[in-house]
Amino acid sequence: MDDCIFCKIIAGEIPAFIIHEDEESVAFMDINPATPGHVLILPKTHIRDIEELDEEQAGRLMMVAKAIGQKQKSALGADGFNIVQNNGKAAGQTVPHFHIHVIPRYAGGPQVAAWTPTSPTREQLSEIYIRLKD
Ligand code: AMP
Ligand code: ZN
Repeated sequence: MDDCIFCKIIAGEIPAFIIHEDEESVAFMDINPATPGHVLILPKTHIRDIEELDEEQAGRLMMVAKAIGQKQKSALGADGFNIVQNNGKAAGQTVPHFHIHVIPRYAGGPQVAAWTPTSPTREQLSEIYIRLKD
C-alpha cells in the first residue's frame, strides 16, 4: 500500500532495525519502545487489522512472536514479555497495517498495557454476557 509506513519499511524505502525476516513476515524494533527491546511483527502483505488476518498467517505470526519473546529473555535478560495487538483507532492502533507488539518486561520495570479494573454488579455482568455468548 503506497502511503503505509510499514509497507515502506518492508520495501526497504524507510530504514528499520530488522531483527527477523522470512517469506511472509518481518520483525523490527519499535522506534518508540515501551521498554528496551520492544519489537513489532507484521505480515509482508498489507492487511489492516486482525479482522483481515487468516488462520495460517495468525499461527505463523504468533510463533514468530513466541520466538522473539524467548530471544528477549535469553539475549536481553528480560524476565517476561507481553504480546499486545491493537485493532482500530479506539483501541490505540496508530498504524493501519496489522502488527503484533512483543514487549520485554523486566522485574521492577514500568507498567505496560495496564488497565483500571472495574467492579460491575452481577446484573451488569449478566447483561453483557447475554450479548456476547455464542
Ligand atoms: P500501534 O499503536 O499498535 O498501531 O503501534 C504502532 C507502533 O509503531 C508504535 O509503537 C510506534 O512507536 C511504532 N512505529 C511507528 N513508526 C515506526 C517506524 N518508522 N519504525 C519503527 N516503529 C515505528
Ligand atoms: Zn502496509
